[in-house]
Order: sequence, then C-alpha cells, then structure tokens
Amino acid sequence: MTMQNAEKVVAKIFPDFPWDEIDTVMLDMDGTLLDKHFDDYFWEVYVPEHYSLVHNISVEEAREQLITRYKAVENTLDWTDLEYWSHELGLDIPELKMRVNHLIGVHPYVVEFLEFCLTVGKKLYLITNAHSRTLSIKLEKTSIGPWFDRVICAEEVGLAKEDPEFWRRLEEILGYDPKRTLLADDTEKVLRSADEYGLGYLIYVARSSSRQPVRYSEKYPSIDYFKELIPR
Ligand SMILES: [Mg+2]
Repeated sequence: MTMQNAEKVVAKIFPDFPWDEIDTVMLDMDGTLLDKHFDDYFWEVYVPEHYSLVHNISVEEAREQLITRYKAVENTLDWTDLEYWSHELGLDIPELKMRVNHLIGVHPYVVEFLEFCLTVGKKLYLITNAHSRTLSIKLEKTSIGPWFDRVICAEEVGLAKEDPEFWRRLEEILGYDPKRTLLADDTEKVLRSADEYGLGYLIYVARSSSRQPVRYSEKYPSIDYFKELIPR
C-alpha cells in the first residue's frame, strides 16, 4: 500500500558497518528485492477495477472502500493472505495476480548484491510476509529463489515480521546469531521489531518502488540501491 502522508524531507543516514562482523544476511522480498510498483498497481488499480465491476460501483468508490479494508488488517498475516482476500472480496486474487505478473521486476543491483554475499560466504535468507502463493508466483517470475540458503514466509513462522516474537521463533528455525545478522527491509516497522529483538545491523530500503519518491529512515541507515552495500 502507498502511504499518502505529507512528505517530510529526512536526511539519509549512510550505512557503515564491518562486513567481517556479519555472517547472516536476511532480505525482505516485496519493495526490497522486487519493485513494489507491481504490488501498488495490483492492489490500488487492478483489484479496484475488478471490484467495481462485480459490485457495480465506480472505480474511485471501489478504491476508497478497498483501501479502508486494507488498512484495517495492515501489519497482520491477513493482509498478505490471498485466500483471505479472495474470500473477502469475492474475486479470484491469485488468478488476477497471474494476469499482471509481467509487471513483477527485480530492483537494479540486487543480483550483484546476492552474488557478492555468496562470494564472501554469508548465509543468505529471504524472509517475507508474502503468502506462499504470492511467493511462488514471484520466485518463478524472477528466478531469485536459488540464491538463498532458505526462503521463509511468515505463515511458516505463524507471525508477521512486525512482531518482535517473530525473530525469536525464526531463531529457533534457523539458528542464526542475531548480533551477527544484517536485515534489509523497506518497512520501518519491521526494522524496529528486529531491533527490539536484537538484530545487529538494520538497513532501510528507501527506494521500494520505481514509481514513488525515495524516502529515508530517520533512525536507520538507508540505501537507494544494493550496490551501496558492496565494498569497492
Ligand atoms: Mg517489503
């Protein structure tokens, strides 16, 4: 979802950390590795268009109604659950996603960064709130899956990443050392929950969509592109 709050200009905090103190890299998918334009377009344009036809209302009215419903379940697993939305909206959401999957795109320099992590021997995990159906559509479309030691979706953990307890349960699953872990995510609330749990290095992805203005974090180091994390 695109937040339409008044824009406040925040100075960028540049990342500065020692790679040799990190052995695990965790990366979010939507907005971090993949262009969030796909998700914004899907939920804010494509779904409202279909919803307006089914309910015989204007697209504008449909969008307003839907955004209210999206916001009500923000930061919960329902938000990412395609079956939940299919049922709630009376639309076949996975089918609609398949129809626009040509818009799914990997951000520039992502593959170079994954290659770097592999070369220097970091454990690499994709950690996403995305539903398993969405995940498989996107991994198939982008071919980024094989780069990762493991791909974990929040439904497997049973909590959304915004909950600090998520990171404890994840530690039980993966056995990572929080202090030696770097997490990059385009949702600041996720970074805050990981921070609370004690993850050592947090990076905010400021350019989540190719079509939206860049917005830096006030608290965490930000990047526009992953090439900024590759030492020269
Ligand atoms: Mg994200």
